[in-house]
Amino acid sequence: MDKELLRALSEADAIAASEQEVRDIMIAQAHKYHKEVQFDRLGSVLIRVNQSTGPKVMVCAHMDEVGFMVRSISREGAIDVLPIGNVRMMARTLQPVRITTRAGVKIHGLLDGEVKGDTVSNLRVDIGATSAEEVFASGIDAGDRVTFDTPFNPLPHHRVMGKAFDDRLGCYLLVTLLRELHHTPLDCELWLVASSSEEVGLRGGQTTARIMTPDLALVLDTACWSNNFDYGNANHRQIGKGPMLVLYDKTLIASPKLTALIENVARSLGIPLQKDMFSNGGTDGGAIHLTGAGIPTVVLGPPTRHGHCAASIADEKDIDDTHQLLVALAACIDRETVAHLTDFRC
Ligand SMILES: [Zn+2]
Repeated sequence: MDKELLRALSEADAIAASEQEVRDIMIAQAHKYHKEVQFDRLGSVLIRVNQSTGPKVMVCAHMDEVGFMVRSISREGAIDVLPIGNVRMMARTLQPVRITTRAGVKIHGLLDGEVKGDTVSNLRVDIGATSAEEVFASGIDAGDRVTFDTPFNPLPHHRVMGKAFDDRLGCYLLVTLLRELHHTPLDCELWLVASSSEEVGLRGGQTTARIMTPDLALVLDTACWSNNFDYGNANHRQIGKGPMLVLYDKTLIASPKLTALIENVARSLGIPLQKDMFSNGGTDGGAIHLTGAGIPTVVLGPPTRHGHCAASIADEKDIDDTHQLLVALAACIDRETVAHLTDFRC
């Protein structure tokens, strides 16, 4: 596993619509392998891996992470912030964060909020300032982006911890796919899409699907279980137990033919799958699969422990297994595959 790549992606700061730090990494990787890069008009990155007359396959991961935006500065020097995306409630208080100013300067601070029952409101960041003038003098202003201040770290037993694994693990897999397949002949045309603004409403997924009109989409995303130490049969997000194959979420129910294809490929590789269902929320897949007359789409990816908070934990093997599965899928998807998936007479 390329831990330095995952470190760079995890430590990049990118809330919705301010994803330049991740975009720079994706563009640099595309240039390294001499691949054409396109953009939608929201900032999503589309990398065409090969040219083919076969079906267009989109592999999509979102660049943005949940975080905050500076709303106002108080006379006393407190920095009021708004959550951007669904930041877990208890991650809204007493968390080290960093503010990225318009000039690109990183300023560290502590996020705090008023806890009442299960909710945390009136979020503010303390940078030690004692007046609004001190805050403004540091370069901070309304609209600045705020992210968790979490370093990436390897853990024992081939596990890793860092921020923004949702969905930088997906972005990492886009890069590893590019590296592995950049000169491999394929029967499909493979596009890697790093989408903008998923956490605030599946936005880049829609615009990029309209640009490239895929014949099939594989959406990479992650999820965690409410009880991280629950190893029971209902938890299909256990780290180290294999990639999640998402059968259902509120925005997408994957075609049984498509999930069967993935299960067959995984079985042939000896990769275990965890068949998951999201009872809350959705992913870019929900937006992508409704493009045009509809696009066969499925969501898969490595599970994590903890999500939408300061740090997540993942197992390297789940990430590597997801990579191997994606490589094998790219190698086997052709015109016949798509014809089969979209033939509703049988
Ligand atoms: Zn996500």
